[in-house]
Amino acid sequence: MQAENCAYCGDLTDMPFQCNYCKDPFCAEHRLPEEHRCVKLSQIRARRFGQKGVIRDGGRDRPNVFRRIFGRF
Ligand SMILES: [Zn+2]
Ligand SMILES: [Zn+2]
Repeated sequence: MQAENCAYCGDLTDMPFQCNYCKDPFCAEHRLPEEHRCVKLSQIRARRFGQKGVIRDGGRDRPNVFRRIFGRF
């Protein structure tokens, strides 16, 4: 995997996360559809209505990131 710029904030990221929906690379902060205003977000919302904060991937989860995400809801 090579470093890429986050498609949302432009930060160079050693381990970019690819959005499952729009397929763009993002940094750890903006990897979630909600965090990068994913173009597919409305479709995602429609599909998992009532659910939020479903975080699953094999990446590294940092507790402070987790808390920041939930603090915005
Ligand atoms: Zn970013
Ligand atoms: Zn996306």
